[in-house]
Amino acid sequence: MAWALDLDGVVWLADEPIAGSAGAITRLRGAGAHVVFVTNFSWGRRGDIADKLARHGIDPGDDVITSSMAAAALVEPGERVLVVGGPGIVEAVESRSAEAVPVGDPDAGTAPVDAVLVGLDPQFDYRAMTLASTAVRRGARLLATNDDATYPTATGPVPGGGAVLAAIATAAGVTPVVAGKPHAPIATLVRERCGDVGVMVGDRPDTDGRFARTLGWEFALVLTGTIGAHDLPVTPSPERIAATLADLVDEALTGHRPSPR
Ligand SMILES: [Mg+2]
Repeated sequence: MAWALDLDGVVWLADEPIAGSAGAITRLRGAGAHVVFVTNFSWGRRGDIADKLARHGIDPGDDVITSSMAAAALVEPGERVLVVGGPGIVEAVESRSAEAVPVGDPDAGTAPVDAVLVGLDPQFDYRAMTLASTAVRRGARLLATNDDATYPTATGPVPGGGAVLAAIATAAGVTPVVAGKPHAPIATLVRERCGDVGVMVGDRPDTDGRFARTLGWEFALVLTGTIGAHDLPVTPSPERIAATLADLVDEALTGHRPSPR
C-alpha cells in the first residue's frame, strides 16, 4: 500500500527532525510500502528538498512531489509563464519545456505571457502584484501552487502563498486554479505514482485531511505539528490518529496500538 507523507509537522518541524520519523520511514519501506513525500512547500527546488531529506537520514528516492510540480503540470510546453515565487517554481516550469519569467526580472511585463504562476514569494510587492494582475486581465491563466493562508514558524504563523495569491486574484478579478493540497492537480500526480489505495499522513486536517478525501485515501493525523490532542476532534475525521509518525507506523505494522507514554 502507498503512504504519502506531508513533511513539515510530520517528518520535521522547520529544520528540526521529529524524533523517530526517519526510522519509521525505513520500517515502512522495509515492509514493502511505497512511500512518497507530498509538500505544498513551493520555494525550494526538488533537489533541495531531497537533500534535506538525506540530511535527516531519509533516502529521498525519486519520491518528492511538490505543489510546484503540480502547478507546472498545468502549463503546456512552449508557454511563457510569469512566476511569482521561488526557484522551485522556475525549475518546475522549465522542466515542462516552458519559459519561466521571474516577476523580479527587470523586463518582466514587457512581453505577453500565457499564464501567471503564484507561490510563496518573500519579495512580493506592489510592482509584482501589478505585473501579475495586469497579465491576467490581458488573458493569462492564473495558476497557484497552494492557497495556504499561513505557514508555521518558530515564532508563530506568517503569511503563506495563499495570502500572495489572494492579493493577485483580487486585483485581477478572477478565481485561480490551485494545484497543491487539498486540490485535484497534485492528487493526479500522487495517483499516477501510487494508485488508488493509500494513506495520507499529515498534521493539518484542512490541507492533508481534505487532500486524503480528494485522493479517496485514508487520512492519518499525527499530533507533531499544528494539531495537538487538545484540538481533537477535527474535520475531516481521521481514520487513524497517532502521537507521532513512529507510533502510527508501529501500529500499522504490528496491529497494536503503542503503549501510552
Ligand atoms: Mg504539515
